[in-house]
Amino acid sequence: MAKSTSALRSRAKGRKRKLVYAFGGSRSEGRATMKELLGGKGANLAEMARLGIPVPPGFTITTEVCNAYGAAGGRYPRGLEGEVEEHRRRIEKGLGARFGDPKNPLLVSVRSGAPMSMPGMMDTILNIGLNDATVHGLAAATSNPRMAFDSYRRFVHMYGDVVLGVHKDEFEKLHQAMKERCGAKLDTDLVAAELEALTAEYKALVRERTGREFPTDPMEQLWGAIGAVFASWNVPRAVSYRRLHKIAEHWGTAANVQAMVFGNMGDTSATGVAFTRDPSTGEKRFYGEYLANAQGEDVVAGVRTPVPINIAGRKGEEGPCLETEMPALYGELEKIYKRLEKHYREMQDLEFTIQNGRLWILQTRTGKRTAMAAVRIAVDMVDEGLVTREEALLRVQPGQLDQLLHPMFDPKAPRKVVAKGLAASPGAATGKVVFSADEAHEAGSRGEKVLLVRQETSPDDIHGMAVAAGILTARGGMTSHAAVVARGMGKCCVAGCGDAQVDAEERVVRFGARVVRAGEWLSLDGSTGEVMLGQVPTSDSEIAQVVQGRMKPEESPLYRRFERLMRWADKARRLGVRANADTPEDARAAIAFGAEGIGLCRTEHMFFAEDRIAAMREMIVAEDEEARRRALAKLLPMQKQDFIGIYEVMNGRPVTIRTLDPPLHEFLPHADEEIAALAAQVGLPAEAVKAKVESLRELNPMLGHRGCRLGIAFPEITEMQARAIFEAAADVFSRGIDVSPEVMIPLVGHREELAREKAVVLRVARDVEERWRAGVRYLIGTMIEIPRAALTAAEIAEEAEFFSFGTNDLTQTTLGLSRDDAGKFLPLYVERRVIPDDPFQTIDRSGVGALMRMGTEAGRRARPKLKVGICGEHGGDPASIEFCHDLGLDYVSCSPYRVPIARLAAAQAALREKMRGKGGKRAKTVKKGR
Ligand code: PEP
Ligand code: MG
Repeated sequence: MAKSTSALRSRAKGRKRKLVYAFGGSRSEGRATMKELLGGKGANLAEMARLGIPVPPGFTITTEVCNAYGAAGGRYPRGLEGEVEEHRRRIEKGLGARFGDPKNPLLVSVRSGAPMSMPGMMDTILNIGLNDATVHGLAAATSNPRMAFDSYRRFVHMYGDVVLGVHKDEFEKLHQAMKERCGAKLDTDLVAAELEALTAEYKALVRERTGREFPTDPMEQLWGAIGAVFASWNVPRAVSYRRLHKIAEHWGTAANVQAMVFGNMGDTSATGVAFTRDPSTGEKRFYGEYLANAQGEDVVAGVRTPVPINIAGRKGEEGPCLETEMPALYGELEKIYKRLEKHYREMQDLEFTIQNGRLWILQTRTGKRTAMAAVRIAVDMVDEGLVTREEALLRVQPGQLDQLLHPMFDPKAPRKVVAKGLAASPGAATGKVVFSADEAHEAGSRGEKVLLVRQETSPDDIHGMAVAAGILTARGGMTSHAAVVARGMGKCCVAGCGDAQVDAEERVVRFGARVVRAGEWLSLDGSTGEVMLGQVPTSDSEIAQVVQGRMKPEESPLYRRFERLMRWADKARRLGVRANADTPEDARAAIAFGAEGIGLCRTEHMFFAEDRIAAMREMIVAEDEEARRRALAKLLPMQKQDFIGIYEVMNGRPVTIRTLDPPLHEFLPHADEEIAALAAQVGLPAEAVKAKVESLRELNPMLGHRGCRLGIAFPEITEMQARAIFEAAADVFSRGIDVSPEVMIPLVGHREELAREKAVVLRVARDVEERWRAGVRYLIGTMIEIPRAALTAAEIAEEAEFFSFGTNDLTQTTLGLSRDDAGKFLPLYVERRVIPDDPFQTIDRSGVGALMRMGTEAGRRARPKLKVGICGEHGGDPASIEFCHDLGLDYVSCSPYRVPIARLAAAQAALREKMRGKGGKRAKTVKKGR
């Protein structure tokens, strides 16, 4: 049946590798730690079976087989067929049912399961083993012919779509037509004979589309399903999910073959999904949804909207729930969830099925959660003694914290609420309505803000969901595809909004009489489930409000937990964390978020202000040094005032101030009226000013007259800036406020450039010191942002007291890739895997990273006390922060709102190093707190 190639061998000993692992029944060969080989699902099924939790018996075909199958062009390794046979017989024996037995048939499911959870991205096939004979056996064995024929119809549909490639809509059309013919309103209105006739139509459709009969042999069905599950590792939605979540391509998926249990056998059957804690808020309460008389796919696909499993979940509303409908089974489920959470010491997401009053657990895995829930669960589990602080720190993804710092809807803004759905994933989203994932993708890629509005989402919508600002679905519960995926992406989602009637063909959504068309604005509140007309204004998040002093910490339990986690992170990390800040307001936010200093103050931003640009332009068009100095004298007091403001806020913490960096042309006017105004201001003819503007135009300004090259040509600019820096410092210092400036020279490539700029700075510093009699501590250093600087770091370090890697420019110049133009084609490079990541977001370790290593090592050899940091955008990227930690840098610097992310990422890097066993001595001897 299955084509095979050579057997897989263990590399170490040349022994034949085991291809299949049993779970459930009398044997469990895997365990939770074997995720790489058995996938998350397979490893956890085996672990649950070991714990004595009721798991339908089955076996897992390893991820290695998937990879071998892919590499051999669809051929299985030798020996697989025999192993599968042996395990099938074991299940048959245990259950007393046989594959293909018309009296008591064994039915199985084949489910994918990768080492990292990829919910809904790959294929699953249920009810394998059904054919025209066994369906009668199932009907007799269950005394439920309707359920048997319904299962058969679902099987042919699913198998026809996933394995045989007949589009699912074609089956759906036949299904709808049958319902109309029979006057059935709901799927459940079709009776057994009608379902039998529908199945025959499905099979005829398969024959017509594929030219072959639908396979009736259960073993042929099984091998077809296994092949399809392995192949689904490479379907586009799975590939884009992996790219989005940075999941390695080489892992592959396992295939889990498991005896079927049925939640659709009648009123004593049910199926559901549950979380051991609330995945939206993190609250410690058993939380879940179920459907009576249904199969699992009905819950996940959002085809029917499920109901809460317990009274607490009903939130005071009337209606049935598992706790009241089947109290004994609910009690059993409670015991199991407590056991699983305690065993895994982690929030679990479980799938269960009740078949004729018997409870089965089909899956357990680490539950996906929002950032708010992640922080709460991590901190609460430490308090409950379940995990250590270090484990808690490793459980929150640094990038996820972004969600907690982002704006929410302004509570005072008026809201025109038109509908309310389930608060499936928190956040505030406004956008123009689109009705398909393709449309969302297209508009989102153009930078438009869109809301994806769907009846329900499916894994095929992943590319649209990724770019949408938020997602609204009419059907589906808290565990529907839309809800789970949105939470994983940190995206706002309102699901199961029954008041929304979505007509994707007409491209309208109706909320009662109110019609909203494609392109119109809606707002979604993922924390309340409200859907609002128009664009509702946003305000700062709860944490941002506390940080800015507009809310008291006591009023925000979320803030208090967040703050505790951050303090643990500070204890664990070795890297210092600074912020890039240009104003006192930025500086205040930076400190409130925990920054220990300013790693980059870009002084040019100050010159663009309305009251300064005139003087700046005057300085640029000046005909000689004297005229330039006159203009600079106007800028000096303003610049000095800027620094006083920042120093006061920073109160002795280091402040790295960079001298002027951009090409002068950037400051000049281009419109004729503006040029005329400038000409009038400086008393020159407009033509002369125009000629000056023209003369400063450069073909390649990023590689042109900028950075220290400006100071070399016009030392008086550096002189003015140095004077502002030191006079401001002396002023603040003389008022009893500690101050610690670090003057940073940009774009240095030659030692001599730094030496000349430094001479100017030193001269001014001494002059100010003499006049003000202030003994201010200061440093003079440089950015390392062009390759020559990294390559000659030893020479440059003789002049520099610190280095700061300007990885934006260093990436641009190392890769020869314009940071301003790369956006046009770089996404394509990432998409086509020419490169793994955008190098402007995550450090290109082997290129830019190699220069950083070289620069750091050579610099420190020449000057052992050289302080080394990073201030490019990468300073706020968790993967790059880990690299900086491993390099032994002293600090990272990033935007104020990324400071918490950097604190956590730095802590995780230190903890991972410790786990690798390398931490120890070095970690203790390097002082933190720079
Ligand atoms: C850099 O190049 O990394 C940097 C921080 O400077 P800028 O982005 O201002 O060029
Ligand atoms: Mg730069």
